[in-house]
Amino acid sequence: MRTCDVLIVGGGPAGSAAARELVARGVDVLILDKESFPRLKLCAGWITPEVLRDLELDPKAYPHRFLTFERLHIHVKGLGFRVGSVQHSIRRFEFDSWLLQRSGAPVVQHTVRNIRADSAGYVVDDEFRCRYLIGAGGTRCPVYRALFREVNPRVTELQTVTLEHEIEYDWKDPTCHLWFFEKGLPGYSWYVPKQNGWLNIGIGGMAERMKASGDDIKRHWSRFAAMLDRTLAPGAHYEPTGYSYFLRGRVDVVRRDNAFITGDAAGLATRDMAEGIGPAIRSGVRAAQSILDGKPYRLDDVTGASLGGGWVSRGLDWAMTRGLAA
Ligand SMILES: Cc1cc2nc3c(=O)[nH]c(=O)nc-3n(C[C@H](O)[C@H](O)[C@H](O)COP(=O)(O)OP(=O)(O)OC[C@H]3O[C@@H](n4cnc5c(N)ncnc54)[C@H](O)[C@@H]3O)c2cc1C
Repeated sequence: MRTCDVLIVGGGPAGSAAARELVARGVDVLILDKESFPRLKLCAGWITPEVLRDLELDPKAYPHRFLTFERLHIHVKGLGFRVGSVQHSIRRFEFDSWLLQRSGAPVVQHTVRNIRADSAGYVVDDEFRCRYLIGAGGTRCPVYRALFREVNPRVTELQTVTLEHEIEYDWKDPTCHLWFFEKGLPGYSWYVPKQNGWLNIGIGGMAERMKASGDDIKRHWSRFAAMLDRTLAPGAHYEPTGYSYFLRGRVDVVRRDNAFITGDAAGLATRDMAEGIGPAIRSGVRAAQSILDGKPYRLDDVTGASLGGGWVSRGLDWAMTRGLAA
């Protein structure tokens, strides 16, 4: 049986952010991930200046594709607005692998299936033993399923459904475009260019609301791809795939004994923009600090609103979730 002080399930942004903190303080950490990195992660790859600060990431020192947008091009009901706001794009394929390596933690490729608690800590698949366990395995995190699902059930009304594809494409427009609520979509579509000829396009919306109105995200995709073909990305070919995750609800219990959940495992994506990378990183860091300093693990400064929580945030939150209580 392999033993460690802290076992982290999932080597995405939440897991690698937690690992980095712990390794820096000399803690014996092990990360388990079912994938071998670099791995595909469906994601537009938009990151905020706050993420750069939390990661202490200097874009000049980052060795992969990194693009900065000085403004966003927002489209609502046929009207276009250019909004000054510095944001960035990365490719998750590169970014996650780089973060994981930078954490300095050993990584074992292993699909976690079974978790049990005993008097000394946690035993995973009868192969790994630890004192502390961090669940950073995304939406279907086995730590969430084994230890938190009962006390923190998912709220289906906060579930998003997405379709996305990232392709090599010689884009001409270097702006990030977002289309909100097109043709009744309870969400938005995006065109996110990446440095040196990569492009991510996708659609995300609230799953329950689409189901209730008999809507289909594939229909939105076809319309969106046809519009891009006529405008921003002629001739591009897509084979989109889907993934689902949860926007921030009440999240009552994020620690049970010495087990923690972070990022998508806890359902922390923001209510206004469904941004999940920043909350994953911040929650990973806070979980690690709680282990290191013995302080409570709290999500007080893990934001649930990408746009500051003012009227624009609240309006978008309402338009996506119809004011479902947080
Ligand atoms: C289409 C789409 C677009 C998005 N766009 C953005 C965006 O532009 N900006 C943004 O901020 N957020 C975006 N998000 C949300 C963002 O991708 C997630 O919130 C973020 O990746 C969460 O990070 P995480 O570390 O919690 O989980 P993940 O990044 O999902 O990492 C979880 C890791 O756990 C591993 N794992 C899972 N199960 C097991 C198991 N049983 N055993 C071992 N390992 C396991 C997985 O292989 C994975 O590596 C988007 C999401 C989608 C689906």
